[in-house]
Amino acid sequence: MSKWPIGVFTSVDAGLGVHLEVAQELKVPTMHLHAPHVENRTRAAAEAFLKKAKAAGVETTVVFSGFEGETYESIQRTAETVGLVPEATRAARAAEFRGISDFATYIGCSVVALHIGFVPDSSTASYRNLIETTRSLLDHVKMNGQNLHLETGQESADHLLHFIADVGRDNLFINFDPANMILYGTGNPIEALKQVGHLVRSIHCKDAKWAAPAVRGKEWGCETPLGEGDVGMETFLRTLKEIGYTGPLTIEREIPQDPVRQKADIGKAVKLLEDLRAKIG
Ligand code: MG
Repeated sequence: MSKWPIGVFTSVDAGLGVHLEVAQELKVPTMHLHAPHVENRTRAAAEAFLKKAKAAGVETTVVFSGFEGETYESIQRTAETVGLVPEATRAARAAEFRGISDFATYIGCSVVALHIGFVPDSSTASYRNLIETTRSLLDHVKMNGQNLHLETGQESADHLLHFIADVGRDNLFINFDPANMILYGTGNPIEALKQVGHLVRSIHCKDAKWAAPAVRGKEWGCETPLGEGDVGMETFLRTLKEIGYTGPLTIEREIPQDPVRQKADIGKAVKLLEDLRAKIG
């Protein structure tokens, strides 16, 4: 794969991504795929999808998990519902995640990714149990010859590094999403990228504006088209170069309620990234 191929976040039937056809139409060579609903994770469904993706010339570089019952309607509700952190659903979701890892092998993808949720304070029993759960997932993922990437944003860079060190496994890495740091108010994305850069193995090209200082971390910032938010795409790409990242630049635009605008914004983002890649890469 050449350096910094463009990518796009896609969905089959779950998640907020665009369909494969959009990636094909925009001639984007790679994608992150939101795992489909369970009935579409069978080997037959996976093989049908893989055939379609190959015909479209789009390679899946990461499969993202998502679970029923998750909602991102507010930061508070995200903390209560997302990932493996909520204790009531932890075991069931961990089991489901193994199935998603298996689905990823069926489509020939060696990376699975996860919004683990708002990692609790390290002094709690919930934290210690989360470490054990994550280790058991990593064993399954390893058996499938895969790595696991954790999405950034719901923790500060410090807290995420601390958690990864406590898990202490060699197949746990980071999917860096600079806009999430802004949306959740968890830190300056460029500083965070420098801090966790040695573990970054995939990224999202997403942009956002900070919430007002008084409500930052309590209320969402605002997602924007790429290049119109507070990330600073040129600085982001220069920092990716600095940390030695050469993988896909995967565009994420989370406005599925407006598919026409979503596709138009992604089209503009492709152009922006191609221009920046020519200038910086
Ligand atoms: Mg993301």
